[in-house]
Amino acid sequence: MLAPLPARSIVDTHTHTFFSDGVGTFEENASAAVAAGCRVMVSTDHLTLPHVMNPSGDVQVVEGDLARHRAEFEAAAAAHPELEYLYGFECDWYDGCEENIRRWSAGAQVRLGSVHWIGSQEEGAWIDDPSDQRIWQELGPDEVWRRYQRAWLAACQCDLFDIMAHPDLAQRFVNAGFAPTIDLAPLWDEMVACAHDCGKRVELSTAGWRKGVGDYYPAEGLLERFFRAGVPITVGSDGHYPQDICDGIARAYDHAARIGYRTVDVPRADGSWEQMPIA
Ligand SMILES: [Zn+2]
Ligand SMILES: [Zn+2]
Repeated sequence: MLAPLPARSIVDTHTHTFFSDGVGTFEENASAAVAAGCRVMVSTDHLTLPHVMNPSGDVQVVEGDLARHRAEFEAAAAAHPELEYLYGFECDWYDGCEENIRRWSAGAQVRLGSVHWIGSQEEGAWIDDPSDQRIWQELGPDEVWRRYQRAWLAACQCDLFDIMAHPDLAQRFVNAGFAPTIDLAPLWDEMVACAHDCGKRVELSTAGWRKGVGDYYPAEGLLERFFRAGVPITVGSDGHYPQDICDGIARAYDHAARIGYRTVDVPRADGSWEQMPIA
């Protein structure tokens, strides 16, 4: 069994490489993590997707690259024994995803569950693409939020996911003309009950600050609800560039502690999960 991590060790459970839509190599991300004092980092490139959802293949690890992806991860992990570097994927939720996820993510130590896609495989759309906001224009932010939340509840009930990433990603364009007008509290309460009943962890993501959201994902009111319901959190940067690896993690610990959290959940290299003190 691994020795427990010192309190408030820097941990980043959400990072991307150039294999999906990030920029750095595994080696560059590992070096950046070590420079940031990181003890545990999880690589979570976007998993392989059905062709119709991403014909260009630019946001995912395409199937033909999966073996090389794993090999380059192993090489970087071996080159940095001072870092616990875990192999994972960020897995999109969509109709019929379960069999694909099982097949394409075989061997992963950590799976993030994410809702970025709303609608059927053939006719749905990404909700977080600044270059294509048609779904926001066509449906409006209130309806995007309602559909997002329904998809999220389904994803939360899927037992493939260790962590629900950026739980309120539908806040992505809240300061870019697509703020919801409905009261989100009833939707939040259903999300919290679902995470609680399914025994899910949720991610406290620092990416919202880099994306103009003006808050973490989840927003403070939602994080408070998760805390009151006893839902554990992990902390991740969702870094797509080496310089964003571990960005804001220590500040996120302070924020979570102020809400009331005393620990964050950390996946370890031996497959265990640790509750690391942050306060
Ligand atoms: Zn994501
Ligand atoms: Zn991500």
